[in-house]
Amino acid sequence: MMLMLLELMRPSFFDKGLVDVCNSLADKGIRVIVAGLDMDYKGRPFGPIPALFSIAEYITKVHAICMRCGNLAHYSYRKTDIDKLVVLGEKDNYEPLCRACFLKAMKYK
Ligand SMILES: [Zn+2]
Repeated sequence: MMLMLLELMRPSFFDKGLVDVCNSLADKGIRVIVAGLDMDYKGRPFGPIPALFSIAEYITKVHAICMRCGNLAHYSYRKTDIDKLVVLGEKDNYEPLCRACFLKAMKYK
């Protein structure tokens, strides 16, 4: 039995082929751990992460704190008007928000 730990950074930027790769490695006894964003800046399923959720044995969702009300934040709100799917950046471009604050922010954007 092969024991190997594979960690992927930024898996949201991979295509759906990542699902097959992870499944193939897991079938060979390799422990695969993937961490990434499950939604894009508009709150839509992002890249291969939702499909990875469906084949994973274990899932842990972690959340930031909403910067506007202090509840758990499920969304990465993009503060800029850039419309590209992927824009790298941290505090300058994104703000963690809860659902209510995200919907309010998107309505007035
Ligand atoms: Zn909030």
